[in-house]
Amino acid sequence: MSEVLPMSFSCPVCQTPVAGTTADTTGSPDTATSSTATPSSGCPDCNKLLDLIRAKFPHQHNLCLEEITFAASFTEDLGCDSLDTSELLMALEGELALTIFEEAPERLKTVADVVRLVRQTQEKAAA
Ligand SMILES: [Zn+2]
Repeated sequence: MSEVLPMSFSCPVCQTPVAGTTADTTGSPDTATSSTATPSSGCPDCNKLLDLIRAKFPHQHNLCLEEITFAASFTEDLGCDSLDTSELLMALEGELALTIFEEAPERLKTVADVVRLVRQTQEKAAA
């Protein structure tokens, strides 16, 4: 494969190359528009799941949506324990009509881990 275009990046979750579709936003984080493609976001599929995780996140944590990123650690950044993570997984299962099999929710360290798990589950379900 050839060179990587400067406008493209890989999804931090599934490593899918994502073409930079936002031509005119050259790195001004204070433009508070909705989630367009920035290096901190992922491919459309993973972004959709991130949005869902934000929507389903246990409310008792009182987090800003901006704090829930792919790289955010459940324990260190979001103040969650494995029980919260399980609760989130169950909410996602209900929303996506999936059975997410995870023996050890405590192994899920970051939001990206959950997105990756959900996507693997979806792929298995579709196979
Ligand atoms: Zn992705």
